[in-house]
Amino acid sequence: MTIKPTGNRAIVIGGSLGGLFTGIMLRSIGWEVNIYERSDHNLDSRGGGVVLQSDVVEAFERAGISTQSLGVVAHERYYLNSDGTIDQPMPMRQMLTSWNLLYSSMRRHFPSEHYHHGKQLINVQQTGKEITASFADGTHDTADLLIGADGPHSTVRQRFLPDIHYRYAGYVAYRGLVNEDELDKDAAALFTERFVFYQFPNSHILQYVIPGEHESLVPGERRFNWVWYVNYDKKAELPQILTDKQGKHRDYSVPPGMLAPAVEQEMRSYADTVLAPPFQKLVAATQEPFVQAILDMGVPQMTFGRVALVGDAAFIPRPHTAASTAKAAANAISLADALVKHNHDVIKALPAWEPSQLAYGRQLVASGQQMGDRSQFSYGTSRFGENSDTL
Ligand SMILES: Cc1cc2nc3c(=O)[nH]c(=O)nc-3n(C[C@H](O)[C@H](O)[C@H](O)COP(=O)(O)OP(=O)(O)OC[C@H]3O[C@@H](n4cnc5c(N)ncnc54)[C@H](O)[C@@H]3O)c2cc1C
Repeated sequence: MTIKPTGNRAIVIGGSLGGLFTGIMLRSIGWEVNIYERSDHNLDSRGGGVVLQSDVVEAFERAGISTQSLGVVAHERYYLNSDGTIDQPMPMRQMLTSWNLLYSSMRRHFPSEHYHHGKQLINVQQTGKEITASFADGTHDTADLLIGADGPHSTVRQRFLPDIHYRYAGYVAYRGLVNEDELDKDAAALFTERFVFYQFPNSHILQYVIPGEHESLVPGERRFNWVWYVNYDKKAELPQILTDKQGKHRDYSVPPGMLAPAVEQEMRSYADTVLAPPFQKLVAATQEPFVQAILDMGVPQMTFGRVALVGDAAFIPRPHTAASTAKAAANAISLADALVKHNHDVIKALPAWEPSQLAYGRQLVASGQQMGDRSQFSYGTSRFGENSDTL
């Protein structure tokens, strides 16, 4: 694909999925893009499953990235009874992928000389004509447009909307991955190529199969991916869950291999008490479970002169929407379209881009809250619906 350079330059802060989607889309319309990521190494060592939505496929297609082998198909949904038998089978075709596969595919496509590791943004300054980013190592870059794709804690957002912060939604997602060949045969047969749920008062757990190590889609080399939503009190319990095995308190997630042993043990005991047997086996077979707090956040404004917020820096929909990644892709696609439509004039394009993206973000946040609250708080805020039989 030959792309005519426009001579325009963009700085993207954050080199995760939101930053990479924006990077590949802006390059596809002829912009020079530099991505600045604070982490000093590749991010692909962790990350679980992602439901593959059409916006992600569209971004890949438009950028010229192959969409041939993007995931694993689940052909049906199962809802389980507490004894592990199937309550409701339901035909439903979905494509499931992994965060690592999406990240690595875009990372390979994006030129390394324009992806800068170990660059933490500390300040943004703009004049009428350009915008400058300053980094903690004393370096600077200047461009026509700056994208804040720097996630829930966004430095870019804090600079323009200092009063907007995420809120804890009242529950966490424990998550885990199990290699296909490391799960009990009966449980594996039930879960393979299916989206399987077990719902019970104030909680639910789900699983689907995703690509395995080195993005393998070969049966036997893939992974079971599970997500289990559990209520914890913000003050009395959450701080302990988010304190890792080295005693460090994390803001909203503890990655694989870092859960405190007491937290992990308690989670495993709960699993053995409350989950349907196939899910008990799945959790037991997980070597390095991890956890993320479920957050709510939305901004009233996504553009500030030559600055635009995308992905989780702007809106954090709860995972029940299965749309965070797709939203980051949609933000990037529509931004590229707006720039083309306005002849690459940032000052005209951003206000034209913003309203639909604000509306989309708000709608996702609201529907995620509705789905999550229904699952987790229909019987009060207690864990596992302990009081459900008295209600
Ligand atoms: C390592 C990792 C694994 C993930 N795994 C999954 C998963 O398995 N499933 C899933 O659904 N979602 C996952 N997510 C979240 C998912 O990427 C987002 O929900 C969504 O795709 C939107 O991403 P984002 O790029 O907007 O934000 P994020 O993914 O949060 O990325 C923000 C990036 O900005 C960088 N950053 C932050 N501040 C600065 C700064 N001041 N200067 C420079 N860089 C900065 C961060 O290091 C990070 O890489 C993961 C995120 C990360 C970082």
